[in-house]
Amino acid sequence: MARTFVGGVHPPYRKGKTCFLPIERLSAPKTVVIPLLQHIGGINAPLVAVGERVFFGQKIGDSDAPIACPVHASVSGRVIALEKRAHPNGREVLSVVIENDYADEVHPSVEPKNMDDMSPADLLQWIREAGIVGMGGGGFPTHAKLTPPAGVTLDAVLLNGAECEPYLTTDHRVMVEWAEDVVLGLRCLMKVTGVKQGYIGVEVNKQDAVAELRRAVASARDIQIVPLAVKYPQGAEQQLIQACLNRRVPKGRRPVHIGVVVNNVHTAQSIAHSLRTGLPCVERVVTVDGASVERPGNVLVRIGTSFADVLTERGLTSEPYKLLSGGPMMGIAMHTPAVPVCKCTSGILALSRAESPATEAMTCVRCAWCIDVCPMLIYPTLIAQYGERGRTEEAEKYGALECHECGACTYVCPSHIPLVQWIRLAKSDIYARRNRG
Ligand code: SF4
Ligand code: SF4
Repeated sequence: MARTFVGGVHPPYRKGKTCFLPIERLSAPKTVVIPLLQHIGGINAPLVAVGERVFFGQKIGDSDAPIACPVHASVSGRVIALEKRAHPNGREVLSVVIENDYADEVHPSVEPKNMDDMSPADLLQWIREAGIVGMGGGGFPTHAKLTPPAGVTLDAVLLNGAECEPYLTTDHRVMVEWAEDVVLGLRCLMKVTGVKQGYIGVEVNKQDAVAELRRAVASARDIQIVPLAVKYPQGAEQQLIQACLNRRVPKGRRPVHIGVVVNNVHTAQSIAHSLRTGLPCVERVVTVDGASVERPGNVLVRIGTSFADVLTERGLTSEPYKLLSGGPMMGIAMHTPAVPVCKCTSGILALSRAESPATEAMTCVRCAWCIDVCPMLIYPTLIAQYGERGRTEEAEKYGALECHECGACTYVCPSHIPLVQWIRLAKSDIYARRNRG
């Protein structure tokens, strides 16, 4: 029977236009803009200068910060600018702009690796050097997730193949088309962590992915494919752990504190691809959809390709009313299509007005629907009210920091109150207060 968690919602999934289409490779653009920050953590320093020629796969930015991950050139060519450019996070971020020479001349350091010949420590270092981050949208450097704090023993590596966000089918296609790589990546993560049991959680609306993964795992008993009920946010780390392993992450703790490492299936596939080819993370699969897109689908895109280039290639039927990076529940609205595809860009949605109705917030009618659906069992309505009034201590007391910003509360609210936005504001005020000491 499909497993699940408490709470959650059932938005219209709208995956039908892309979930059965094979991944297509997008042609490399004339220029790529590679932000030096594509992960959670410290920004990288540039390792190249304007005018310098760079190779495909060359490391062009790195940092000594404990939580950071290098970035690499996704084309060969010449660096034509090193400047702040628009980033999907809404800010301007220092970026390396490379003019493509279309030679794809590979950096001499790029050579395939054999996982069996490498120690866990070597593999961990390789994952960092390959620039692997959480590709489900989180962007946390993968190597930093794989070292448990003192006193903690890891006993499960869990791959997230739920992909519960509407529209997005990136992970679905990765699992169907590259199931062997997903399993190889999982085995690599198990070797690094010393964990003997791996799990892949997949929502049951992806039966073809379940079948391909089962075929790739064959008769091995150390990897279990776990069918999950179709519900949002099934792919949130804590809900995934609850559904797959029947464990709860205690308040204020992370999955690693209960012995679990969670990674996205595309992250695992990317690790395997890096091992097989020697290439670092220089491309990813992106779902391109929305009523304004002429040819929706899943495309394999070089990191640094602009949203505008992707949309030009797929065609637009009309001017999008809203342009999103990611899905409609947790995605971020883009103010310009000049932003580049980064390692954690799972989707580009060019939505029409009908797909993203503007609604005016009204008074809370105290229906408690937001409380019923919250998978973290907190009080969205109260926390949002405190957030709106700047009463951060009360917001924190009622669990603001437990909120993972899934947006399920906002989705059900009949008064269209932007609960998650107020909670996000409360969280940033709480962190600012803490930083001030
Ligand atoms: S309060 Fe946070 S975790 Fe709970 S439903 Fe709202 S956004 Fe999701
Ligand atoms: S769902 Fe909206 S209207 Fe209902 S209690 Fe929550 S905030 Fe109030």
